[in-house]
Amino acid sequence: MSFTERVFNFSAGPAVLPLPVLLEAQRDLVCYPGGGASVMELSHRGKVIDGIIKEAEARLRRILGVPDDYHVLFLQGGATTQFCMIPMNFLGEGGADYLEQGTWSKKAFGEAKRLGRAEVVWSGKEGGYSTLPEDNEYKVRPEASYFHVTSNETIHGVEFHRDPESYGVPMICDSSSDFLSRPVDMTKYAMMYAGAQKNVGPAGVTIVIIADSFYQKLIVDEKRPIMFDYRNHVEGKSLYNTCPVFAIYIVGLVLKWLEEEVGGLENMYARNQKKATLLYKALDESEGFYKGHAAVKARSLMNVTWRLPNEELEKQFAKEAEEAGMIGLKGHRSVGGIRASIYNAMPYEGVEKLVEFMKKFQERNA
Ligand SMILES: *Cc1c(COP(=O)(O)O)cnc(C)c1O
Repeated sequence: MSFTERVFNFSAGPAVLPLPVLLEAQRDLVCYPGGGASVMELSHRGKVIDGIIKEAEARLRRILGVPDDYHVLFLQGGATTQFCMIPMNFLGEGGADYLEQGTWSKKAFGEAKRLGRAEVVWSGKEGGYSTLPEDNEYKVRPEASYFHVTSNETIHGVEFHRDPESYGVPMICDSSSDFLSRPVDMTKYAMMYAGAQKNVGPAGVTIVIIADSFYQKLIVDEKRPIMFDYRNHVEGKSLYNTCPVFAIYIVGLVLKWLEEEVGGLENMYARNQKKATLLYKALDESEGFYKGHAAVKARSLMNVTWRLPNEELEKQFAKEAEEAGMIGLKGHRSVGGIRASIYNAMPYEGVEKLVEFMKKFQERNA
């Protein structure tokens, strides 16, 4: 069967999906049980798709502990569209406060800045975006409409290992690259959003979770284009227009895997810690041959970033790894180096294989 040719995929996104999910989707691709047709062919307003969406939402609420008074939306446009939708709908006179932790949070901030007042209350720029602040290293202005954080900076490989403090201001979190990788306290967040293609599914759907108390603060603007107004998506229950049915279906299968096979977020977190520990240990024991980018306390469990002694070796590393059956290890073009994305669906064996390869590569090239 063709899946025996599958390699270990360390790509940052679109990223590896659990094999059982792909196999189930393959089995039911042509005819969804009870549907008489493929999920891709069925009306988003029909009974079958309605059931798929409701089940995905119910699972997500259970797994993540989303309180009943939060709205769960399945939208399009990627996390990048949320960068502008958030200020369009919620940026008031007081402006908004942002942490500048790396590439993605900078982009989110830039969109707010284009639309109104936005402030960076902490920046990791000086340290090359290798670290994150403690709660007492930034202040949030009490008059701010919201406080925006990025739980994991995918490109630099730095991650919060706690729910950051927002000092009473509604906190919005871009959780695109560590969504459902560990337990979080949802009640601390006014809003959380994530593009699915890193940790929960294929590209094409963005999960947006909004506390109703925050949603009620939405700034009404009748000139706002319909698709950029959260009211239409909340009132339409993600069905204002044709929703990405197939992507939501796959997200539903990933959630089923996470709940039934992994056993929830505590177990997922333990698996993720075990994988990341193995890989960081390999960096730390390489006597400087592999130099990790992130400060130890901010090390991401999802995206592990490091450099080799020179760019030539980095190129060679990625090339030889690919020949050995490990793809997607080249760092983001903006920062270079090597990046191994070890999301939920990356098996421990993938990291073991990478670490073994790293040792041999070092022996040959140090
Ligand atoms: C990938 C990523 C984005 C952008 O997501 P798109 O779905 O491509 O718009 C935003 N934020 C973070 C943290 C990401 O990792």
